[in-house]
Amino acid sequence: MKSDITIIGGGILGTSLAYFLSQLTEKKVLVLEQAPEVAYHTSSRNTGKVHAPFLYDPEKKRLFARAAALGFDMWGQYAKQKSLPFKRDGVLEVALDEDGTRRLEKYIKWGEQNGLQKDEIKFLDGSETKKLEPEVRCQNAVLCTKDGSVDYGRFTESLMEDAKKHGATFLLNTRAEEIEKKDNVEIKTNSDTIETGFVINAAGGMSIDIAHAMDVARDLTDIHFRGEYWKADDIYNKLTKVSVYSVPRHPEYPFLDPHWIVRYDGRCEVGPNAVPVFSPYGYNFTENIKEFPSKLVEMLSSGAARMLFDSQFISLATSEFLSSLSKTVMINRVKEFLPRIDPSKFHSRGTAGVRASVIDSTGAFVPDAIIKNGKNSIHVLNYNSPGATGALPFAVHVISQMEKEGTIKVKNARCGLWDYNRISEFLC
Ligand SMILES: Cc1cc2nc3c(=O)[nH]c(=O)nc-3n(C[C@H](O)[C@H](O)[C@H](O)COP(=O)(O)OP(=O)(O)OC[C@H]3O[C@@H](n4cnc5c(N)ncnc54)[C@H](O)[C@@H]3O)c2cc1C
Repeated sequence: MKSDITIIGGGILGTSLAYFLSQLTEKKVLVLEQAPEVAYHTSSRNTGKVHAPFLYDPEKKRLFARAAALGFDMWGQYAKQKSLPFKRDGVLEVALDEDGTRRLEKYIKWGEQNGLQKDEIKFLDGSETKKLEPEVRCQNAVLCTKDGSVDYGRFTESLMEDAKKHGATFLLNTRAEEIEKKDNVEIKTNSDTIETGFVINAAGGMSIDIAHAMDVARDLTDIHFRGEYWKADDIYNKLTKVSVYSVPRHPEYPFLDPHWIVRYDGRCEVGPNAVPVFSPYGYNFTENIKEFPSKLVEMLSSGAARMLFDSQFISLATSEFLSSLSKTVMINRVKEFLPRIDPSKFHSRGTAGVRASVIDSTGAFVPDAIIKNGKNSIHVLNYNSPGATGALPFAVHVISQMEKEGTIKVKNARCGLWDYNRISEFLC
């Protein structure tokens, strides 16, 4: 089988790339997805929030912040066009102490720097918060009205159908197993050999492994964290109007503390925590045990080795493990700001998802998404939250990087409902 461009990974990013490439270029686009459906892994296993960009440092997380700034309007427009659910419900970020309040002040500044209007983000004191959400207890809060709830799995399926109409091919149940670089690239899958002019690595939790197989980003490695959820009884469906997040205890780590989540259909959940696991698909004990030896060797021979001896990281990992083992420990983290919830009213686990956080050679977490060019290839690494929010504009950004490198020629400036040049200039 032959293609001009092969995208490895049919998550929300790979599918967004296929959606735009099939409309912007004449290239024959092929997507390889190992699972039976698109968005089978992280892209469906998340909180489903269209995040407002106030959480992201405009310098350290520039790409995530800019993509999120455009993502809200783009998903809103796409949802309208396709009659998919998009609930503009807003979010409350609460601080329980002085440190947290200082962080909220930073969020207001970042929100404005990242393009939120003054009437979209507000600082509230404890009593103003109580008027708005009587069940919430906090010292201060930030209310952002430009935040939404969606089903990213459905968005991804719809993008796939659009991409197929524009000529893209999706091979499901097809895993890229070996990649050989000749004049073209040869990808051996579980069922076929594909000859392609160019590879886009959008393989989510496997993207570092694929980059390494193509001799790219050898100085980087990753650690996987499973985010788990507990589903609340229906009696809590009207407990709050909006989702409630607390200021993270450890903002230097690439994940937040569990939140009170109101999903697009009104169901409520608590989560996610961040439990270290050994595989991007480490949803259960068997998969983790299977991958443990090779992941440990990989960690010990890379910058990640430092994490194993970092006392703050070990203590954080231990507390996340406890919240994995004990429902009460997990729910009590949210009970600190929503005292009425009772662990006995959470009867089943939600759908856990795994993130792959990239670590550099010094042992530090990389804050932003990474794009690396290789021979006949481009690799997207560290594509974590708010990756689903920013998937459409970020895909345009990757395409504009390919255009700069001379890999493709963009044939028209309109892509779907949007203007290619405006988006690519905003992110470059
Ligand atoms: C717990 C949690 C909560 C989150 N909440 C939010 C949120 O509320 N809002 C938000 O914006 N973001 C959120 N995120 C982040 C967001 O979900 C991700 O950034 C996004 O889904 C990443 O998309 P992706 O396409 O890069 O990766 P994925 O969805 O992981 O897709 C990659 C695909 O590549 C495939 N693949 C891998 N290797 C191969 C191979 N060799 N051959 C073929 N196929 C392969 C995989 O099967 C997979 O389907 C959350 C993440 C987590 C973990």
